[in-house]
Amino acid sequence: MNGFGQIAVIGAGWAGLACAVELAAAGRPVTVFEASRQLGGRARSVDLDGHVLDNGQHLLVGAYAETLRQIRRTGADPAQLFWRQPLRLDYPGAFRLRLPDLPAPWHLAAGLLAAEGAGWREKLSAALFMQRLKFDGFRLRRDTTVSEWLDAHRQRGAIRRFLWEPLCLAALNTAPQNASAQIFANVLRDSLGGPRGATDLLLQRSDLGRIFPEHAARYLAEHGGEIRRPHRVRELLRQDNGWRVDGRHFDQAVLAVAPQHLPALLAARPVHEPLLRQVAEYDYEPIATVYLAYPERVRLPFPMLGLTGPLGQWVFDRSHQGGPAGMLAFVLSARGAWEDLDDGELARALHTELCAQLGPLPPPHWQRSIRERRATFCCRPNLARPGHLTGERGLWLAGDYTCADYPATIEGAVRSGVAAARAVLAGR
Ligand SMILES: Cc1cc2nc3c(=O)[nH]c(=O)nc-3n(C[C@H](O)[C@H](O)[C@H](O)COP(=O)(O)OP(=O)(O)OC[C@H]3O[C@@H](n4cnc5c(N)ncnc54)[C@H](O)[C@@H]3O)c2cc1C
Repeated sequence: MNGFGQIAVIGAGWAGLACAVELAAAGRPVTVFEASRQLGGRARSVDLDGHVLDNGQHLLVGAYAETLRQIRRTGADPAQLFWRQPLRLDYPGAFRLRLPDLPAPWHLAAGLLAAEGAGWREKLSAALFMQRLKFDGFRLRRDTTVSEWLDAHRQRGAIRRFLWEPLCLAALNTAPQNASAQIFANVLRDSLGGPRGATDLLLQRSDLGRIFPEHAARYLAEHGGEIRRPHRVRELLRQDNGWRVDGRHFDQAVLAVAPQHLPALLAARPVHEPLLRQVAEYDYEPIATVYLAYPERVRLPFPMLGLTGPLGQWVFDRSHQGGPAGMLAFVLSARGAWEDLDDGELARALHTELCAQLGPLPPPHWQRSIRERRATFCCRPNLARPGHLTGERGLWLAGDYTCADYPATIEGAVRSGVAAARAVLAGR
């Protein structure tokens, strides 16, 4: 095979797929290699005892503009795929914040001031905090932890406990005492500080595979692309006029793997030592998703509720997401006490927490937990992040960790994939 002009994308997470779709849309022949049978990487569908669910409960928001654009590009319609709802944070019996249907920034001001479960001073202080951030262009003079930053801006009480800290944990998957305030400010800039729709919750109507990966695979097939799976790339060799990937020649190659997978592909060449040293410094944070199946009549009052803990943070009603009636998904983000419990203990503890907030519930009749030990990199202050350049011609990086503005998120992954694709297109 001649292969001239061919592009290899290694990794079919959302970064790799977004990159491949962007390239295919520009008419470039692309081959995607994926180590697993399943597409989607850390945001994929799984079959658990015949239930099609996700490896981890995900939440997308209206600010995910690039993700929505890539979904549309494949011919799929986000309006069919998501149930779009104005931001609503309900912690039954403790706190409630809903953003009304007003233009920005009034929706935020009105929502904050009307929040239930927080005092007037805290609410006013939160509204002024957002104003101040906006005035400063969401730029901090120096990066610090989210906890120190919130202290410095006197963000306390219920607003801190039920708004800022859970948003930090949900977006950065890093506890506020360890998380980067600057990256959190970037998230606030594009969500609460953005246009009205940016804060909308995009509640998926099906499992993750049917939100993007399957549409991307179909689009690639229709545009002359190819996905090879399961195929773990073992050999990446530089050639005079391109790259040799497991014996096949490609003009350019994009590494869309997670940072911990880079050494297996790059360690042989000294030019990559600085990059490998950089990512070797990364710590990782886990996420657990605990599925509990209740009798069909059990429904949450809203598909996503906040839990007051101590273990769980959010619970989702999967019957709204293509799952069976009665299926709930509990989310436990970042390192915590939950890691010491076995699956049975975790399920019992979460059931007890939910009953404490909603009142008595029948016991679940089925439970499964998925613990993703390296769900995301730990988003510490001043974390050095590579871009899409590698120092070698025709070899590019994509992946959530390369989108320096964002924490490890689907939107960061998709943006990185599109950025790498544009570099490929400009690179020849
Ligand atoms: C449980 C959980 C919950 C999350 N919740 C949210 C959320 O609510 N909202 C949100 O926005 N984000 C969330 N995230 C983060 C989000 O899923 C990730 O940031 C995103 O999926 C990362 O995509 P990626 O393409 O950069 O990397 P990955 O998904 O890790 O993709 C890399 C791919 O490369 C493949 N690969 C590796 N080595 C090779 C090789 N040698 N050859 C071929 N293939 C290879 C891997 O198999 C993998 O498929 C969550 C993550 C987890 C795990």
